[in-house]
Amino acid sequence: MTTTALPKEVADYFPYASVRPYQDQYISTIYSAVKERRSVLIEGSNGLGKTISALSAVLPVAMEKNLKVLYVARTHRQHERVIEELKAVSKRRPVAGVSLRGRNEMCLYRFDSSQHYDAKSLMEVCELMKSKGTCPYYKSADKQTYDYLKLQQMISTKSYKASEIMRVCKKKNLCPYELVKSALSDVNVVALSYLYVFDPDIRAAFLKNLDTQMQKIILIVDEAHNLPETAVDVSSSSMSLFAIHQAELEATRYGYEDAEAFAHLLYSETEKKAASIRKEELISPLFLDEVREKAGVLAPRSFYQHLGEIGAAVKKTLLSEGKHPRSYINALSEFLMRWTETAEDEAYIHVISKYFTRENTPTAKLAVVALDPSKVTMPVFSSTYANVVMSGTLQPLDAYSKITKMPHDTIEHIACSPFPREHILSVVCCGVTTAMESRTSAMYQTFIRRIQEVVSNTPVNTGIFTASYEVTRSLMAEGLQDALEKPLFFERRGMTSKANEKLVSEFKEHALTGGAVFLGVQGGRTSEGVDFPGNQMNSVIIIGVPYAEPTPRVKAQISYYEKQFPLHGREYGYLLPAMKKASQCAGRPVRTLEDKGAIIFLDHRFASHYCKSFLPSWVLRDLKVLPAKDGPLTQELQRFFSQ
Ligand code: SF4
Repeated sequence: MTTTALPKEVADYFPYASVRPYQDQYISTIYSAVKERRSVLIEGSNGLGKTISALSAVLPVAMEKNLKVLYVARTHRQHERVIEELKAVSKRRPVAGVSLRGRNEMCLYRFDSSQHYDAKSLMEVCELMKSKGTCPYYKSADKQTYDYLKLQQMISTKSYKASEIMRVCKKKNLCPYELVKSALSDVNVVALSYLYVFDPDIRAAFLKNLDTQMQKIILIVDEAHNLPETAVDVSSSSMSLFAIHQAELEATRYGYEDAEAFAHLLYSETEKKAASIRKEELISPLFLDEVREKAGVLAPRSFYQHLGEIGAAVKKTLLSEGKHPRSYINALSEFLMRWTETAEDEAYIHVISKYFTRENTPTAKLAVVALDPSKVTMPVFSSTYANVVMSGTLQPLDAYSKITKMPHDTIEHIACSPFPREHILSVVCCGVTTAMESRTSAMYQTFIRRIQEVVSNTPVNTGIFTASYEVTRSLMAEGLQDALEKPLFFERRGMTSKANEKLVSEFKEHALTGGAVFLGVQGGRTSEGVDFPGNQMNSVIIIGVPYAEPTPRVKAQISYYEKQFPLHGREYGYLLPAMKKASQCAGRPVRTLEDKGAIIFLDHRFASHYCKSFLPSWVLRDLKVLPAKDGPLTQELQRFFSQ
């Protein structure tokens, strides 16, 4: 379809000769909303070209009104994709953009150093070195060379990926982080991670560098299904027994007796409490008051502030000695303050849990767990010029909008799937389920028969994502590996990201040599972060609805939402997160319009009206429900792949 279907203002920025099916509607919806200064919540499947659609729809408004566009996404790859699209746009219209990574990913000094700095410590080290002029890569205003200024000007006027800037800066021994920072106020678009916008502390510092206010920003949130979880993480906090003990040792080392005594008591009281629980329990916020009273601390806030001052002094000493400025006392102070501030807020719970370290040693931790993502998202959504919130899996939009408290006049839109109907097969098989009471040996044998049907009728690669590691273990124990005629690669709990990457890449290589089977877990690393275009995954099997274990925190989440949204507590707190995980798995095989993928749900519950309302529209479009017997699945797959 030609670009004449696009509004003229948008066509000026849209860099391609034609639009994909339904892409014009997707773009026009965003453009009309943003032009009216309204936000838009929009679901669209892979293959629609969402990145360029959102950019070309908001750029005419941003340019006309002198606004900045912040494009937030989770991965560096997604950030770089934004810049690639901007480079294409700039062949038609001048536009400058940059992708920004965190300081600890761009800092050249850190690459030279043997220390492993966390983001906060590196910031302190960096500030100190800059003020003393000891960072060899930093150029203060009076030392900026012609080369530096030329680079700065280039970044301010064109579009560059963080990786490109880092490459040039390494050659010229210049700090890429500072260079990008200095150009931020001039560029039109910045692609960056969620935290720059949704973490209040990071946002405050970032806005200063951007030299603008929230009202002058159009925010695009990509892969927005991740946002509620990120928002909850941002406002949660935890303190392990290990960290409390380190705070005690630190206090001993630097001679702070009151801090030492308090940390010692907190450790022993937490340990005692942990001994009386099974795995995880809610704990009264008064627990901390009891510890404080036993320690003879009368004014909690001023004592916790005092700990913060001790932590700051420790960090200063470490910095002056050229050491890593990490203070456990400081971390303890921040945690205790957070605990105290949230003690009477029903949007937070306080939790104690037992777990095993990597070395398999039992330990425990205290945590402040946030239940309400809107505490983080609402202040952002309500202060920008407009928000474009998009993903392939946002259904039901109404629930998403309520949970994140998007502005009342937000436009909600579900884009039609651009995939030809014959490119996606989606089926639900009856007669199978991972519901607890049905997890028998006979049920697992039925699962294995269905998997065999899929694997033997799939041209090359098959992915399987189960509801939990327990289900994976049972499938293996029931003989899954022996039942398959193709090699099996399976994700293990606790695998490092490097080991997982290796496993996935070996599996992908089998796309060229006859095919293989990948066995992972819904919500795991592979099920959301990895794409499998082409033959890398022709079929995906989703085994079971991945409901979370009904832990105290899950129950608290349900009852919090029930209070906020009567009759929807279970839906929003329990079903929605599970269906998001399943929907993400469904999208793995179909990444580009040329891909052809079979999506097989092995659990009859996916066919219920209740669950279906949480599946994305492109999965639901031709969803078939198959009877509980051998054969129909084979027939469907043979028909589909022979087309
Ligand atoms: S100025 Fe740049 S290279 Fe130097 S410490 Fe800071 S971030 Fe690192």
